[in-house]
Amino acid sequence: MLPAVTAANYFDPDIEMAYMGSTQVKSFMACEEAAMARVQGRYRTPASQSMLVGSYVDAYYSGELPVFRAKHPQIFKRDGELKAEFQRSADIIGRMEEDDLYTLMMAGQKQVIRTGEIAGVPFKIKIDSLLDAETCREVVRKFPKMAEALGPCEGAIVDQKVMRDMENLWSEEEHQKVGFIQFWGYDIQGAIYQAVEGHMLPFFLAVGTREEPPDLRVVWLQDKHLSEKLLELEDMVPRFQAIKEGREKPRRCEKCAWCRATRRLDHAEYWPPEPGEDVAY
Ligand SMILES: [Zn+2]
Repeated sequence: MLPAVTAANYFDPDIEMAYMGSTQVKSFMACEEAAMARVQGRYRTPASQSMLVGSYVDAYYSGELPVFRAKHPQIFKRDGELKAEFQRSADIIGRMEEDDLYTLMMAGQKQVIRTGEIAGVPFKIKIDSLLDAETCREVVRKFPKMAEALGPCEGAIVDQKVMRDMENLWSEEEHQKVGFIQFWGYDIQGAIYQAVEGHMLPFFLAVGTREEPPDLRVVWLQDKHLSEKLLELEDMVPRFQAIKEGREKPRRCEKCAWCRATRRLDHAEYWPPEPGEDVAY
């Protein structure tokens, strides 16, 4: 019997062990051993300042700002004013709130927790804004260009992202710059959310940037692409689950901070390497 997932225990170690989540999948894709160490609480990466700026905006939209402020006294200066970076969060929120479409997309039910399965593996998701059919119709009434995305649907899943900017980023895997959605695996997240929510609702990102002034976008991730990502997930996640259950040994990526910190030398590298050998120097 799996434990019930709540807002309070969402990131607890026993819940992280019992359920796969979008962040966990991305972590396993990057480095299985680091991901497993995270799940077991042996490896913690502290939240960066910029992550906190995003969390501040999330907290505002989910009505948890007073709790967030109490938990993070480091966001205030001695005089009780917000530090400059967090004043930026307030500016981003102001920019979001003056935009009618953005505001409607964020007007759904907040922080909706659902559980389900992908390829027989238990999953949990937390939806930032789950729109109902009526709100979707209202969006289309006010913004006719949203008809294709929202017209016939019974609802929509909206995930809010606060990011530095929307520039392309260098991908080690692809050896070229890729768009931010691919780089951060937001399409993988979309596929997970759609499958676990269960009604195959359209998936949107509501993006705000930390630029001065902030940029705003609503991005509709196409169903066809998300279906392809779901197939990839169905191939991948049984192995991740087997690692979590101790049936498979996690692989090391030998590139991440965890692998650097835990490397034990037992041989000398040969240099120059043979052509095609994967060495960093
Ligand atoms: Zn690694």
